[in-house]
Amino acid sequence: MKSPQVDVIIIGAGPAGSAAAIACAQRQLQACILEYKAFPRHRPGESLHPGIQPLLAQLGLEDDLLGAGFERHEGTWVEWEAERCFHPFGSDSDEPWRGFQAWRADFDAMLLHRAQALGVDIRQPCRAMEPITDGDRVVGVRTTNGSMTARFVVDAAGSGHWLARHLALNIERYSPKLIARYGYARSSDIDDSQLPAIVADSHGWTWTAKVRHDLYHWTRLSLHDQQIGNEDGQPQRARKGALSTQRGADVSWRIVRQAAGGGYFMAGDAAAVLDPASSHGVLKAMMSAIMAADVIKRIIDEPRKEPQLSDGYRGWIYDWFHHDVQKLKAYYRLLPHPPRWVIDV
Ligand SMILES: Cc1cc2nc3c(=O)[nH]c(=O)nc-3n(C[C@H](O)[C@H](O)[C@H](O)COP(=O)(O)OP(=O)(O)OC[C@H]3O[C@@H](n4cnc5c(N)ncnc54)[C@H](O)[C@@H]3O)c2cc1C
Repeated sequence: MKSPQVDVIIIGAGPAGSAAAIACAQRQLQACILEYKAFPRHRPGESLHPGIQPLLAQLGLEDDLLGAGFERHEGTWVEWEAERCFHPFGSDSDEPWRGFQAWRADFDAMLLHRAQALGVDIRQPCRAMEPITDGDRVVGVRTTNGSMTARFVVDAAGSGHWLARHLALNIERYSPKLIARYGYARSSDIDDSQLPAIVADSHGWTWTAKVRHDLYHWTRLSLHDQQIGNEDGQPQRARKGALSTQRGADVSWRIVRQAAGGGYFMAGDAAAVLDPASSHGVLKAMMSAIMAADVIKRIIDEPRKEPQLSDGYRGWIYDWFHHDVQKLKAYYRLLPHPPRWVIDV
């Protein structure tokens, strides 16, 4: 077979894809991103834990993050099994830690520009159609713009599990089907002083966050039977200023057991999904992507270690996911009406 065209093909330019590309470039690997949507494009997931700051510093983007003008918050208001109270992120000796309400179109573009500045080949719009395989190894991708070969393919294409579906890999499920409803609203009725907030009710919970100076994001998740709080799932207070129709996303808890294998890695939602109450989707997407890039570099340096290193990555993703499942179940068990499926028998 001819030698591969690049070291790494990355599918998707969300936080996982761009972080993987930057981390590859920082390790002198030749990377190419395939992204089928033109930017700016919409994605939900604006509320970012303070841990995103050191991660972006590692990628050379700390100044850009701090200069982007994103709303900041010191923690979350929680109305769960008891009265509403404030859960701060934490603090060091000088000041409280602060998270970011990052408008995802801007945040994702910032990461992609950094990848481009480091010499990553960005093909956009370009859709990955199917993996190219040689025996049990992934060796490239057929795209809407032709075929490409690579030493490694990273699936960072999000919750549709692109590569897992093409390779017919098992996706293990840990919850019933959960569809989150979400949308945006401008409203003068919302009291900013107690946001962002997660508020439980007898069916599930509602998250509200101020994501721009005059714009609010809401997410509503029913944990029981997908009933929703009112006829369209949108919190009453946000309804008045609604900007767009509500959207839905499948946030059922799931993981691809084989998140790494011959010639491939999965990062971010492509590897595992939990509902947004787990709250760190973007952080985890970026951490898994940086780890994937690091492992790829080590395999390229010492190819005989590939089985051991890809096994280590798979185990890391799997253990992490299971730890988060246990935490989320324990959290849901505190609800006044916990769903039956979180009560382990
Ligand atoms: C309602 C809701 C609220 C959320 N709130 C939060 C939050 O507050 N904080 C948080 O941290 N997380 C939140 N999340 C989770 C967060 O959105 C995800 O975990 C995060 O976006 C995952 O990043 P990713 O890079 O893995 O995937 P994505 O961001 O989905 O990026 C995948 C990219 O791949 C591209 N792509 C897909 N298929 C192809 C293809 N075949 N070829 C080429 N490109 C392709 C897509 O266009 C997209 O750009 C929320 C999720 C939902 C549904």
